[in-house]
Amino acid sequence: MGSVFLGKLVNGVFGDPALYITLRHTREALLLDLGQLDALSPRELLAVRAIYVTHCHLDHFIGFDRLLRVALARPRRLRLTGPARFIHHVHARLQSYVWNLADRFEEGLELDVTEVVAPDQGRRTLLRLADGFALGPIHDVPLPGGLVHTTPRYTARAAILDHNTPCLGYALEEPVHLGVRSDAVQAAGLSIGPWLSDLKAAVRAGLPDDTPIPVPQGPPRPLAALRPLLVQRPGQKLAYVTDVIFHPDNVARITALAHRADVFYVESSFRAADADRARQRFHLTSAQAGTLAALSQARTVVPFHFSPRHEDEEDALRAEVLSAFMQVDGGLGELPPAAGGTKNNRIKKKII
Ligand SMILES: [Zn+2]
Repeated sequence: MGSVFLGKLVNGVFGDPALYITLRHTREALLLDLGQLDALSPRELLAVRAIYVTHCHLDHFIGFDRLLRVALARPRRLRLTGPARFIHHVHARLQSYVWNLADRFEEGLELDVTEVVAPDQGRRTLLRLADGFALGPIHDVPLPGGLVHTTPRYTARAAILDHNTPCLGYALEEPVHLGVRSDAVQAAGLSIGPWLSDLKAAVRAGLPDDTPIPVPQGPPRPLAALRPLLVQRPGQKLAYVTDVIFHPDNVARITALAHRADVFYVESSFRAADADRARQRFHLTSAQAGTLAALSQARTVVPFHFSPRHEDEEDALRAEVLSAFMQVDGGLGELPPAAGGTKNNRIKKKII
């Protein structure tokens, strides 16, 4: 089963953090962090519907201008999420430009901005080009369980982590993965086609069994009769954590957030031997990154955000991540019983 999340590190493992994710079978994309975005085409940028920023250090936010420029005159709403004071950062960035002609764009860009101020509490506002991105009312919004965004295709959760400034980690989860049993479709006398997307949407929405579903051959059929044409599997999960110090609070929050992630993107700034340097800069080492992936019981770890000082040591960094990842308990001790605990934990581990 392929993941619904098709990820691409825009600037590779040494450049600014920016993870571009295409949602499979759609023309929609999202971005985790806004490092330099020059490597993305206007078409790729225009596909972006949601942006999740960890924190506003320069290398995570400097790409905002490129996105803004490409998206500016399009009648669309972009969803942005970030840590405490994110509304201020976005607004201040926008107000560094002059918008005296903005009222000509009545249908232009709208930015729906949420900042996470507590584990289950946020603030939200709308910034519109037509208003010159003037700051309007800011509303308190509950974020139960860190849930910052729910879409038909996935949910996004955030956890507040410590980088000597609040820094968000994210987990994206597909609620249910619905596959098509093409043999069953044919056996039912039906052809494969776009109508199956409507069927999936009806199942995802939990519509009643007698809901009529249009089919390409013959009259509509009740949902209950078409359900067996689909196969349901647990949804895919992608976790993204960068710019964090390795201490017990962060470890607990990260491993809860990334628990059993299918793909875990985790920063690996420094070599294992540079733990002091990593701690001083509130970053992770390769071994700490691998340990977090092991403790999270992730299936695949994707280390990134390597420090340029290790430009010639990429293989060594990866080897250190993998070495810690392959230890069931990450080298910290026994896993709790619920986590399983056989040698390979029945998870086929991979590094990319
Ligand atoms: Zn940072």
